[in-house]
Amino acid sequence: MTEQIAFQAEVAKVLDIVIHSLYSNNEIFLRELISNASDACDKLRYARLVHPELAAQGEEMKIELIPNKQARTLTVRDNGIGMNRDDLINHLGTIARSGSAEFVKSLSGDKQKDMALIGQFGVGFYASFMVADKVVVQTRKAGDASGWRWESEGAGTFSIAEDKKVSPGTSIELHLKKEALDYLDPLRLRYLVRQYSDHVSWPIVLKDGKQEETLNSASALWTRHKADITEAQYRDFYQSVSHAFDAPWMTLHYKAEGVIDYTALLFIPEKPPFNLFQPDRQTALQLYVNRVFISDDLPDLMPHFLRFVTGVIDTNDLPLNVSREMLQKTPVMSKIKAGLVHRILSELKKRADQPDDYQTFWESFGIVLKEGLYEPNDQKEDIANLCRFRSTVGEGWVSFADYVGRMKDGQETIYYLTGSDLETMRHNPQLEGFAARGIEVLLLNEPIDEFWTQTFTEYKGKKIVSVMHARQDLDKIPADPSKTTVTLTTEEEAALMGEVKQILKGEIGDVQMTDRLTKSPVALITPEGQMSMNLERLMRAHHQPTAFASTRILEINRHHPLMKKLAEMVQSKKDSAAIAETVWLLYDQSLVTEGEPLKDPARFSEALVRLMMQGL
Ligand code: ADP
Ligand code: MG
Repeated sequence: MTEQIAFQAEVAKVLDIVIHSLYSNNEIFLRELISNASDACDKLRYARLVHPELAAQGEEMKIELIPNKQARTLTVRDNGIGMNRDDLINHLGTIARSGSAEFVKSLSGDKQKDMALIGQFGVGFYASFMVADKVVVQTRKAGDASGWRWESEGAGTFSIAEDKKVSPGTSIELHLKKEALDYLDPLRLRYLVRQYSDHVSWPIVLKDGKQEETLNSASALWTRHKADITEAQYRDFYQSVSHAFDAPWMTLHYKAEGVIDYTALLFIPEKPPFNLFQPDRQTALQLYVNRVFISDDLPDLMPHFLRFVTGVIDTNDLPLNVSREMLQKTPVMSKIKAGLVHRILSELKKRADQPDDYQTFWESFGIVLKEGLYEPNDQKEDIANLCRFRSTVGEGWVSFADYVGRMKDGQETIYYLTGSDLETMRHNPQLEGFAARGIEVLLLNEPIDEFWTQTFTEYKGKKIVSVMHARQDLDKIPADPSKTTVTLTTEEEAALMGEVKQILKGEIGDVQMTDRLTKSPVALITPEGQMSMNLERLMRAHHQPTAFASTRILEINRHHPLMKKLAEMVQSKKDSAAIAETVWLLYDQSLVTEGEPLKDPARFSEALVRLMMQGL
């Protein structure tokens, strides 16, 4: 006896649109059917655990694709759980998914627009009608004595009849529309399976005449238990998802359960990939929904400062047919992102306790992670704790915590010097006053350091300040007194500053006295809040116009015998030519020390030669 049953009103509406629209992206029907078949196999596997009487007899579970050119049908068959009469009526006659009733209400009536919406929302089984004008489902539920035949042309009703000959599992026979006959082509099927369903954990077998071919690699490694996965399997998988040849430095495999359920299998490579700094590089992450590949173009899934993380995220909290727009809008993605960031940072924290091991990571990806101190995010402190720097103490890597632990009594500030060459930086005159007081200085020699130091200005209540702008601490902490030989008087200082300003008019913005220098008579700095000279040089090197070059300030060491001598000469107002030559020479030499080009190198070398002649 064959029953004729009407589709639920919402389904009828959806089907009406699906049948009558030419949807360019209709290939999605295949992954929907494969996904259902895979679910059916999963369900049977589980049912067998609970009901041993369903134990496997004979055939392994699998999904078959059977194109038939004569009949113009494509059949998707599985030997999974199957459906009984109620299942058929409830699952293939209604839309049960939550929110779908509202979704259907929101359809506009314009078929083309609505089709695009449906394509994004994902209509599961009903996508069959995008490519077929008739669908025949033959199914028998595991353990049942008899099966069922369901048939529909999608218009209003479906028929259902008992059929004792149907074998266990489900077969979905699509009578392809004229425009969809390319789905009979084995090449096309092979391509689609590789593209969308490669990681389905059951074999997907193409039956083409007598030939059988398994199309997917069935390696949804992330769905297996950690204990069942070997290191070599993780490595192979890492190499295939990351297109890499090394071994992962970190493998992070976990299942998150809570607001959003997802499984993550993430890797941090050992060596930086070649395109790490290409501006259009996205994170190398793949998103799966229920083991079906969705996208690997997911700029919002991982913050930029973690763009070296690769791997797979699999969630059931998104519809299979989730669209780009939806991926951008849905809170599911931002929740997953927050979870991933939290997890990765805390794993890194654990590894950071083993300095030798962590150094491998830091030297590969430290410059990327430091971008996190600069990009807006809520994890600044965690990121700061993971950062390592060179410093004036030793040759190794130093953390903020190491630095703070070594701060001098009375020192309240974390000091740094930026530059590009570590060796040159170690000899920078600006460090002299700090060395004299035993104060450590971080040596920041990457371009990114110029940027994060502008926005990340405090660590655990301690200000982070450039040595160029150090003030209070240096007054509070006494320098080794044996090194201070002379000091300029107030009158000498005033006279000398006036004279130097006069001579170097147009070259520098200001002159000031400092206690920060010990060996050097003078040094150049830029004012707080303006670009450092190092940053100006970086910009010039990248052909960025520096229209607003920073003001230069010439600092004078008030304890230097040469400056004392010069001040005395200025006060006694004699030999102004010698004074001018000396001031120019000092200024040029401060430019040289800073790594700045000289405006007039000839003047500098002539003056130097004259001086040498006098000395000899
Ligand atoms: P979804 O997979 O999101 O539930 P579908 O429209 O794809 O939505 O499928 C509807 C329901 O039909 C499934 O949840 C399942 O209960 C049933 N179903 C579909 N295909 C199969 C199949 N091959 N074997 C068993 N049940 C199936
Ligand atoms: Mg489905």
